[in-house]
Amino acid sequence: MQFYGSISVNPELPVEIEGLKKLAENLWWSWNPEAEELFKRIDMNLWEEVEKNPIKLLSKVSYKTLQNLGKDKEFLRSYNKVIESFGRYLNRKDTWFNLNFDSLDDNRVIAYFSAEFALHESLPIYSGGLGVLAGDHCKSASDLGLPFVGVGLLYRNGYFRQEINEEGWQKSIYNDLDFKELVVNPVKDNDNDNDLVVSVRLEDRDVYLKVWEVKVGRVSLYLLDADLEVNNEVDRALTYRLYGGGPETRISQEIILGIGGTRALYKMGYQPVAWHMNEGHSVYLGLERIRDLIQDYDMNFYQAIEKVSANTVFTTHTPVPAGNEVFSFSLKDKYFSKYWNEVGISREEFMKLGKIHDYDEGFGLTVLALNLSSFHNGVSKLHGDVSSAMWKDLWPGVPTDENPISYITNGVHTLTWLAPEWKNLLDKYLPENWKDRIVEQKMWKKVREIPNEEFWKVHKDLKAKMIDYIRKRDLIRRQRDSKINNLSKDSNLLDKNSLTIGFARRFATYKRATLILKDLKRLKKICNNQGQEVQFIFAGKAHPADIPGQELIKKLHNIAESEEFKGKIVILEDYDMNLARYLVQGVDVWLNTPRRPLEASGTSGQKVAANAGLNFSILDGWWCEGYNGKNGWTIGHKSEYSSPKEQDLIDSISLYKTLEEEIVPLYYDTDSNEIAEEWIARMKESMITNAPEYSTDRMVQEYTKNLYLPAIKRGKELNQDNCQLAIDLANWKHKLKSNWDRIKIYSEQEGNLGSFSIKDEIELTARVDLGQLLAEDVEVEVYLVNKLNESQSKIIPMEVQLEEDGIYNYIAKINFDETGIYNYTFRVLPSSKTLTHKHELGLIKWI
Ligand SMILES: *Cc1c(COP(=O)(O)O)cnc(C)c1O
Repeated sequence: MQFYGSISVNPELPVEIEGLKKLAENLWWSWNPEAEELFKRIDMNLWEEVEKNPIKLLSKVSYKTLQNLGKDKEFLRSYNKVIESFGRYLNRKDTWFNLNFDSLDDNRVIAYFSAEFALHESLPIYSGGLGVLAGDHCKSASDLGLPFVGVGLLYRNGYFRQEINEEGWQKSIYNDLDFKELVVNPVKDNDNDNDLVVSVRLEDRDVYLKVWEVKVGRVSLYLLDADLEVNNEVDRALTYRLYGGGPETRISQEIILGIGGTRALYKMGYQPVAWHMNEGHSVYLGLERIRDLIQDYDMNFYQAIEKVSANTVFTTHTPVPAGNEVFSFSLKDKYFSKYWNEVGISREEFMKLGKIHDYDEGFGLTVLALNLSSFHNGVSKLHGDVSSAMWKDLWPGVPTDENPISYITNGVHTLTWLAPEWKNLLDKYLPENWKDRIVEQKMWKKVREIPNEEFWKVHKDLKAKMIDYIRKRDLIRRQRDSKINNLSKDSNLLDKNSLTIGFARRFATYKRATLILKDLKRLKKICNNQGQEVQFIFAGKAHPADIPGQELIKKLHNIAESEEFKGKIVILEDYDMNLARYLVQGVDVWLNTPRRPLEASGTSGQKVAANAGLNFSILDGWWCEGYNGKNGWTIGHKSEYSSPKEQDLIDSISLYKTLEEEIVPLYYDTDSNEIAEEWIARMKESMITNAPEYSTDRMVQEYTKNLYLPAIKRGKELNQDNCQLAIDLANWKHKLKSNWDRIKIYSEQEGNLGSFSIKDEIELTARVDLGQLLAEDVEVEVYLVNKLNESQSKIIPMEVQLEEDGIYNYIAKINFDETGIYNYTFRVLPSSKTLTHKHELGLIKWI
């Protein structure tokens, strides 16, 4: 039969429980287990079937069920409690932000841009760590009460779902998402009550974008969607796939995100006071704001850059080249040749914004982002250092440890990743309001007082829950691929008592998923040691274009299917937030083997630690800070290697040795009640030390205090008197740049000054010819390095004394607090109260 059309009849919620609709339309439920429980109780099977998507659940549940629930006293009691607590959350005045800082006007917000957001598996617009971080950032921003909005893209196909075929090859499956079934709603245009649409120009045509809203607690996330009838077929597909297509799609997506996102915010009436670019994908927001300023004020391009960068924060997330996109100049010509005319600069000036050296052969987004932001950071201490070194040539001559790239270590949204079972236990042993006090290290010490039996039981149950879930998925998969049947029919995959080690992450080669396979004989012995068995669970997607990554999956698949490792090594399909939750809550040990120092932070291990699991990891990313000798284990050394082969060998030996000699014996060192005291002590230590520190609550507080508020303040200053300060600053910078090469430093005190007592005050003098510049334009400093410890440098400002014929005398009196031999030199750098960072110009003159 051929139907003419379809009619959708939606169930009406009985008035007693009509609040379920609002609850379903805000992702708040996803980190509040009582709310999730409510949806689960509506229809347990349906809840699983709709993959924990309450919007879908409410559209599918029978009208009768809903009517019955409206009369069910017990359900109503829970319902009322949840609705009340949801309302309290949304209207709360005593948030961290409100208690500590002046509130902002309603339309003044911190605008956070990201190409992906991982908020819940039912909204699959993320690929991995970057998205999870962005999602967790929004949730903590909501919990802490920040005036905050997110901006991203709504991908019609989301990210791909992964199947692994019988041969071990990854298959990527793209489903068409039905936006009606997602937690998204179209934003209405204030002027006419139609759906809000903005446009961006791509080459010679306008592409129209619909704006959708996702509610994340108190925070709104706005997502742009190009799949509209007014656009041509190619343009409609621009927002189909996350990280899909070639460079042309990428640059178009990035224009949509940065430029379209900015226009959408303005159109909705927002006046952001700080702009955060989470990775370089959104960097064109800066170019758009510059264009606006030039139209509205009497300003040139460089003056506008000052104004824009003043309140822009840029976070770089990876040292891996694939994460630092570089575009060909011809592609830039294609999409930006109108732009540089509009803002009154030349092609050459434009291209310079994305280049560090004249000889660079492409336009780098990270370079552009650094040029358009005054605040830049990496995502762990080590990654801050690595990034400073990577981009040091943007500040030529400035010592790497002084350049303006700082760091804020990543965290995870604790209440999203912490198992409800742990939350219940913590309710019992931590102060009543512990959820508001996650960052308090001291509070977590109470975890030590939890009886071991009770503590272990929670973990054991979670591990069993994970294994049951894995078995269920295993069966489904084997039904699909009826050929995979060398495992027993009713899945008894994995043992609930064996030491269980998890490894789940994107299969990028630098993460070295197969390091553990280096010595198969040794591994086999570790896995099958009678009474002390060890089992491994792997999961992860490889980017569809990453063939070496897909080969890693195949290799693991083959091992998992082999007789020798049958049931001891398992590789799971389709790693997403749902599977991640099971794994991070259920494993004993979390393995992480990146090639140091390429893992910028990593966050999955932080989720494990919050759930009292133990990390066993290379000293890279966050673990370099998190490890304290008692809360997990390390692999390898804090070294860099010139040969990857050598690095692999050394790290793998360390891995096996620690497993054999420390981890396995400790896990199986149990008393008659099956309690391994020492093991549990470590688990507690892992939770106590890591949960407060590696929480996005701590992270967002640091972003607020160290970056957002300074950016807001600076943005305000530069806005005054029609942006006069921005104009002055740009002009002053221009003056310094044009005159810098003429500076000369002389000193009569060359060579060895002789020896002194530690009690002596030593006077150093230098004469500086500043050319056209004035003493007030610069700072002159003594730079001292202890010969025995070159990483320790000391900087002493010099005072200007008298001037003769444009030559200034500088003097410094130095008191040493440590004996030793010191090397010294002199340097001149620009100085102005209006700089955000001492070295932001990247000008420095050494003697
Ligand atoms: C947490 C998480 C990640 C990031 O983990 P890393 O440690 O950075 O690899 C990636 N994907 C999913 C689904 C996650 O939940």
